[in-house]
Amino acid sequence: MLKKLLFAVILSQSIFSSDIAYSDTPYDDPLVKSIIREFETYFPGIKVPKSGFINFQESPSVMVADSSTGKQRPSHGVCFPDWNNKKLNKIYLYAPWWRTSTNQWQKRKVLMHEMGHCLLNLKHLKNPLGYSIMSQTLDTVNPDGSNWGYLMGELRTRWMIYRRTGVGGYKY
Ligand SMILES: [Zn+2]
Repeated sequence: MLKKLLFAVILSQSIFSSDIAYSDTPYDDPLVKSIIREFETYFPGIKVPKSGFINFQESPSVMVADSSTGKQRPSHGVCFPDWNNKKLNKIYLYAPWWRTSTNQWQKRKVLMHEMGHCLLNLKHLKNPLGYSIMSQTLDTVNPDGSNWGYLMGELRTRWMIYRRTGVGGYKY
């Protein structure tokens, strides 16, 4: 009985954390928390700063051309690097999009992508197949997240190549 109840609680939490819940404070946002945990699982040596690093913003600081429509729209996320001290790099998520987007996998892709810039120092990847967290298009990730494991493996491989050779990343 207790087990069943627990499962129900966990299940409802995961539904909430994926699509519905939203907090004005990024560090209280269940999906943000979950992405941070996942990042630290894949990159155990790299700590995600506990405050001030991930931020929401109501007005966009960067506009981009949408990959499917070609029209200008606010970027879903931005990494502002501090070239003197990478510990001061900051991520800004565009809050109106984060609040209203119902696809958790696209949100995971955006935040993981910005962490790829801000924590792993990785550049964009011009991959003709688009199968990279570091490519700029949202459709890299399947709507049901079924290729997420592949994408994370690819990100880890790219980071290891960068660590060994400097290829694919920023010079600090
Ligand atoms: Zn980017």
